[in-house]
Amino acid sequence: MFHGLSSAIWNRTTGGRVYIYHPGTPHVLPVATMLSKLWTLGHKATSPVAPPLAPGTASASVEEPYSTGEFSIDDYRPIKVICIGAGFSGILCAIRFQQKVPNLDFKIYEKADGVGGTWHANRYPGAACDVPSHCYQFSFEDQSQWSGLSSTGPEILANIERVVDKYKIRKYINLQHELTHAKWDAPSGKWTARIRHGAEEFEDSCDVLLLCIGSLSRWQWPDIEGLKEFGGTLVHSAQWDVGDGAWEEGVKTWGDKTVGIIGNGSSGIQIASAIHPKIKRMVNYARGRTWICPSFGTSSTFASLGRDPNDTRRTFTAEEREKLKDPQCFKEFRHATEHEMNSFHALIIRESDLQKGARMNFEASMKQDTADKPGLLEKILPQWSVFCRRLTPCAGYLEALCADNTTYETTPIKRVTRTGIELTDGRHDDLDVLVCATGFDVSYHYPFDIVGRGGVTLNDRWTPYAEAYLSLAVDGFPNMFLVYGPGSGLNTASILVLLENQVQYVVKAVQKMQRERVKAMEPKKAATADWTEHMRAYFPKTVYTDACNSWYKAPDGTVVGLWPGSALHAIRTLANPRWEDYEYESIEKTRNRLHWLGAGDTENERTKTGDLAWYLDTPDVPPIPE
Ligand SMILES: Cc1cc2nc3c(=O)[nH]c(=O)nc-3n(C[C@H](O)[C@H](O)[C@H](O)COP(=O)(O)OP(=O)(O)OC[C@H]3O[C@@H](n4cnc5c(N)ncnc54)[C@H](O)[C@@H]3O)c2cc1C
Repeated sequence: MFHGLSSAIWNRTTGGRVYIYHPGTPHVLPVATMLSKLWTLGHKATSPVAPPLAPGTASASVEEPYSTGEFSIDDYRPIKVICIGAGFSGILCAIRFQQKVPNLDFKIYEKADGVGGTWHANRYPGAACDVPSHCYQFSFEDQSQWSGLSSTGPEILANIERVVDKYKIRKYINLQHELTHAKWDAPSGKWTARIRHGAEEFEDSCDVLLLCIGSLSRWQWPDIEGLKEFGGTLVHSAQWDVGDGAWEEGVKTWGDKTVGIIGNGSSGIQIASAIHPKIKRMVNYARGRTWICPSFGTSSTFASLGRDPNDTRRTFTAEEREKLKDPQCFKEFRHATEHEMNSFHALIIRESDLQKGARMNFEASMKQDTADKPGLLEKILPQWSVFCRRLTPCAGYLEALCADNTTYETTPIKRVTRTGIELTDGRHDDLDVLVCATGFDVSYHYPFDIVGRGGVTLNDRWTPYAEAYLSLAVDGFPNMFLVYGPGSGLNTASILVLLENQVQYVVKAVQKMQRERVKAMEPKKAATADWTEHMRAYFPKTVYTDACNSWYKAPDGTVVGLWPGSALHAIRTLANPRWEDYEYESIEKTRNRLHWLGAGDTENERTKTGDLAWYLDTPDVPPIPE
């Protein structure tokens, strides 16, 4: 009997126990259980039983003897990576892939005519970051000479350009090249990307596709009747043409102009604060209310600079900047600032003490700052919690709204006319300039098709909601990773913390593909569903689900754009990928999952080159216990 069964059994020894694969049974079973099953199967048990194969792997007969590969374990296969977008995310990918992935062919296609993404596109008056400048740069960068706590757009862009040159990554970047279509080809395990460059369109293919296209990069005109009929100057905040100069140059002649600004999000607030002293009259049209962050004292983080903690100045003095040139001083200052920023996470938890305290302080400060304009506070103070919408620390906005030449208009807009704006109550404002600070298409429905397995498009996969496993990979879209995709936003920290950790994760995935000779990997459907279920359970505990409008929510209020936790939580999550949450397909048609171990040697040994004791270079020296 046992002799007859032997061909039906493919056994292997694991930790001293013998296991048997059984057809139709997804799990391995101990021998005793297995034998009784086979006994009851009768004659079926006599045919050969193949072990389960990785999805997409051609069936291999168990009777073929296994033979090892002829390659060395670190003979990394060539890998071609196409990255779309040259903002912070794409630039970071270029830096890290160049550093960490051998045998690499890397390309960036960027549709704009410059690098920098958000900071290349947004040159409007007052554009600035809303997190401390020293933290709005990569962790490995050390620009210390920022003009202020929230540096201006041109400074941020100049720093991005500096980093691009420092790490010599311009060679990878193709400007004015727009991705118009991408399609996965399962047999070859490659993506084919269609790229538009001027009038020309061509195809390029790759093993791995990185989408670094930003969440706030698809600017759009608001859907208001008559907008295009406006006879004055019409401008969108994300398309403010400054030519080669600064925005101040462009508005020099606006002293006699009446300017309408639609929107009171971050851009609208910054534009209003910056231009109101330079124009005749300003009307800010606001659909919703908003919290305005008080001007805090500069807190203990400024102690190393010798500043009075009650000082609310947001710019650095020449003396402070000089001190920050000292690497130790810079390091301490940045560390303290980032530590402080990361201490705010509890603010977003509903009913937390920090949230209650913030509400009290913000309300008191807004009351004080609007005292000069009776009725303004009632129009602008939100019911919803602080931080439900992203907060903009914008010194000067309430001051601008209180100015005599300013109107804060909450009556809805009926239509745009040739000469201005007509409101639903019949009033009309004559305007010379109309600024649409109305934001971006944040639907995560991209204006191009990404076609995954079985011809399914990403836009279809993301209907009704965009979802990406751990914010960076999508089932059905193998070898594709997103940086700053859905689930990536952070409201209480610098987004760069998250971007760096996402990129680190993606690099590890691609290293794994090279090392283990993986042709295709994608997250399991069930793992993605678990992530989404986790998000849905997490956000109701936060203030994000209050009744505010925000770019990170779907129209029905479902939070799709934010990470479910703090920045520190994201770092810990992404540090140790759960590779078991992915499906894999190998390059070689082999039944042995360890085929990538190869012939048993390394490249240095095989080619008789290089250092053969490299492991001594970075020994992990344990501390000696007390
Ligand atoms: C006005 C504004 C202010 C902000 N301020 C802050 C802040 O203070 N702090 C903060 O943490 N975050 C801020 N953000 C968010 C900001 O977007 C991120 O901090 C960061 O810049 C995102 O970088 P990214 O590279 O992921 O995306 P982006 O900077 O948006 O870059 C995406 C790039 O992809 C390119 N692209 C898109 N589609 C295609 C295509 N089909 N083909 C080729 N290229 C394409 C775009 O042209 C763009 O260059 C702000 C956003 C805006 C809009």
